Amino acid sequence: MKKVSILVPVYNEGDNLFTFFNEVTKVTSQIANYEFEYVFVDDGSRDNSVKILEDLASKNKKVIVLELSRNFGKEIALTAGIDSLKTDAVIIMDADLQHPPKYIPEFIKHWEDGFEIVATQRVSIQKQPLFRKLGSYFFYKILNFISEFQTVPQTTDFRLLDKIVIEALKEFRERNRMVRGLIDWMGFKKTFIPFEAPERFAGEARYSYSKLVRLAVNSMTSFSLFPLRLAGYFGILISTVFGCLFIFMVLNSLFLHITVFSALSYVIVINSFLIGIVLSCLGLIALYIGHIYIEVIDRPLYIVRKKKN
Ligand code: UDP
Ligand code: MG
Repeated sequence: MKKVSILVPVYNEGDNLFTFFNEVTKVTSQIANYEFEYVFVDDGSRDNSVKILEDLASKNKKVIVLELSRNFGKEIALTAGIDSLKTDAVIIMDADLQHPPKYIPEFIKHWEDGFEIVATQRVSIQKQPLFRKLGSYFFYKILNFISEFQTVPQTTDFRLLDKIVIEALKEFRERNRMVRGLIDWMGFKKTFIPFEAPERFAGEARYSYSKLVRLAVNSMTSFSLFPLRLAGYFGILISTVFGCLFIFMVLNSLFLHITVFSALSYVIVINSFLIGIVLSCLGLIALYIGHIYIEVIDRPLYIVRKKKN
């Protein structure tokens, strides 16, 4: 019998865990032919989450609890969970019931059809602040503009991954990570199902704006070297403009005598030209740093799906 793991990062979700577990098991108990296990990663919760999880685990052998020593953030909690898996597929879910368990059968159906990743795309979310909607919109626009592969907007971590994707993910050891982004980077056979995200069952969203901004900056800088090259582009622009201006001024005073330029204007133009040169050099250094960065994060060069003979 194939095994499907449900992976849930948990940070102060004491008020949600019972309901969450009941709702999930209600759905999974209807699905025959698969063995389910429930992996909860406690990300340093300060409420009664751990106690509830331990209770669940002592009553149900299919519940596995991984308790992190402190709060490392959702991305790392997910990574810890994925590293621990020995399974045929995993379904990643939030503990706050914003990822409705009723989609689990659909995930499995697409997986049986041969998709290695079944991801979800949010079609609507009730009462999300306008500022957050706009932020998310521009984040994807910019990310797709500067990075070499396309990220689909409004996708979430609520997804099913086949065993081969799980094994491939274990090879990624970079520290600043967005698991979703890494999965998109990998390729594989992928499909999307639209879903409506309800509001959080209990409690407040655990992602503060500052955490979201950090995540956005992280994902932009780890999937694109464009921000690094900006200084260089800027420098080339400045030195070209001021270089041309300088040549124009010299030619003008030597041959045309239309305008007379003061000594100060020469100083300013030459100085700006030199600033441009300095910025271009910074851009050049950034290119080398970019190479070092790529070597250091040590992503796998390629991922093999299957091998025959
Ligand atoms: N979470 C976590 N560590 C954190 C923050 C959140 O493990 O530092 C978990 C949280 O318990 C929940 C999921 O990540 O299961 C999504 O968190 P949240 O609902 O706050 O985020 P949002 O729904 O706003 O994306
Ligand atoms: Mg949530």
